[in-house]
Amino acid sequence: QRLKNALRTGDTVARLGGDEFVLLLCDLTQEQECLPVLERVLGAIAAPLILQNRQVTVSASIGVTIYPGDAMEIENLLKNADQALYVAKNAGRNRFSFFTPALQEAAQRRAQMTHDLRLALASQQFRVVYQPIVELATGAVHKAEALVRWQHPVRGMIPPMEFIGLAEETGLILNLGHWVLETACAQLAAWQAAGRHGLQMAINVSALQLRDPDFPARVAATVQRHRLLLHTLELELTEVTLLADGEATQRAVAALRAAGVRLAVDDFGSGYSSLATLKMLQPDRLKIDRGFVRDLPRSDGDGALVQAMFGMARALDVEVVAEGVETAAQRAWLLGCGPHLQQGWLWARALPAESLVSLLPALPVPEAVSQGVAPDATSIP
Ligand code: C2E
Ligand code: MG
Ligand code: MG
Repeated sequence: QRLKNALRTGDTVARLGGDEFVLLLCDLTQEQECLPVLERVLGAIAAPLILQNRQVTVSASIGVTIYPGDAMEIENLLKNADQALYVAKNAGRNRFSFFTPALQEAAQRRAQMTHDLRLALASQQFRVVYQPIVELATGAVHKAEALVRWQHPVRGMIPPMEFIGLAEETGLILNLGHWVLETACAQLAAWQAAGRHGLQMAINVSALQLRDPDFPARVAATVQRHRLLLHTLELELTEVTLLADGEATQRAVAALRAAGVRLAVDDFGSGYSSLATLKMLQPDRLKIDRGFVRDLPRSDGDGALVQAMFGMARALDVEVVAEGVETAAQRAWLLGCGPHLQQGWLWARALPAESLVSLLPALPVPEAVSQGVAPDATSIP
C-alpha cells in the first residue's frame, strides 16, 4: 500500500517474493525524473509502523536500472537492478543506487573469480605457507601460523586478502578451511615425527567455519587422525568472527575449549575489542594487530594502547603475540612491555614448510637488522 501510494499513476509495483519488490516507472523523459519517486518510496517505507502496540521501523534499499540504456531484456534488467541493490545495501541501506557499467564489470570479475576459486579447490591450486612465531627472550620458534596462498595458473601467487572475502561470501571458505586445517595438521604431524616436538600450529578460522555445527568434531577428528595432541593446535579467531551469530559461535567455542584446543584472538584492537568477547572466549592468546605495532616506537598514542593491551592481557592471564614486527626498534620497544611472543618480517616471512624447518628449533636474534627495513626471508640463515 505504501509503495503504491508513493508511485505515479501508470507506474507498476509487483512483489517478486519475500521482501523483494519491483517497481516499474514508465514514460520517464529524463533519468532524473525518477529521483523524487525514489525519495518518496524511501520516506514511505521508513515511516514507523505500529505492530501490537509497539512501534517498529523498516528501511528499503533500492537498485535502479534504466531501459533501454542499461539492457534490453527483462532478465538483464533484473540482474542489473540486483547488482545496484547490493551496492545500496553495502553502503548502509535506506538508500538507492544506480546500475553502472563498472558494476557490471565488477560483477563479471566476481563471477569469474568465484568460478576460478571453485576450480582451484578441485585442482589443488592452494598452498599453505608457515610463518614462525618466536619467543622473544630466546628467539626460539614456539609455533607457526599457517597462511593460505592461491597459486593461480595465470595470475601467479594471490594473497589471501584478495580471495578470503569472496570465499566467505560464496561459502567456499568451508571447503577451503577444511583443506587448510587438514594440510596444516598433516604438516605438524610430519614435523613432530621428524623430532621437532614442542612446536604448535596456529590456524585461522573464519566465522562461517565456526558457525558450522560440525566444526568442533571435525577439528577433533583431524587432530586424532594425525595423532596430534589437541593443545598443539591453536585456532585464531578475529573479533569480527566472534561477533557473528552469538549463540552458534558460543556453542562452538565451548565445544572447542572443552576438547582442549587453544584459542587466540587475532588482530586484537582492530575490530570491536569488546571485553565481553574476551570474557566469553577466555582466549589463551591475544595477537596485537599489526596496525598498533607499525608506528612504534615513534607513536606515543599507539605505544600507550599497546601497553594497555599488555596490561589487560596480564590481568586476564593471557599470553600476548605482537604481530607485524618489522624492525629491531619495534622489537626492543616491545621487550619493555613484558614477556611475549613476536611474529613479523624481522624474524621471518611466511615460508614453505621445507624452508621453515631449517629455522627450527631456534632462530638467531637478528640484532643486525637495520631500522625500518624488513629483511627478506632468504637472508635469515
Ligand atoms: P592474519 O591472520 O592476521 O595473518 C598475519 C598476516 O600478516 C599475514 O598476511 C602475514 O604474512 C602478515 N605479516 C606477518 N608479519 C608481517 C610484517 O612484519 N609486516 C607485514 N606488513 N605483514 C606481516 P597474509 O598471509 O597475507 O594473510 C592475511 C590474512 O588473511 C590473515 O591475517 C588472515 O586473516 C587471512 N588468512 C590467511 N590464511 C587464512 C586461512 O587459511 N583461513 C582464513 N579464514 N583466513 C586466512
Ligand atoms: Mg592469523
Ligand atoms: Mg592478525
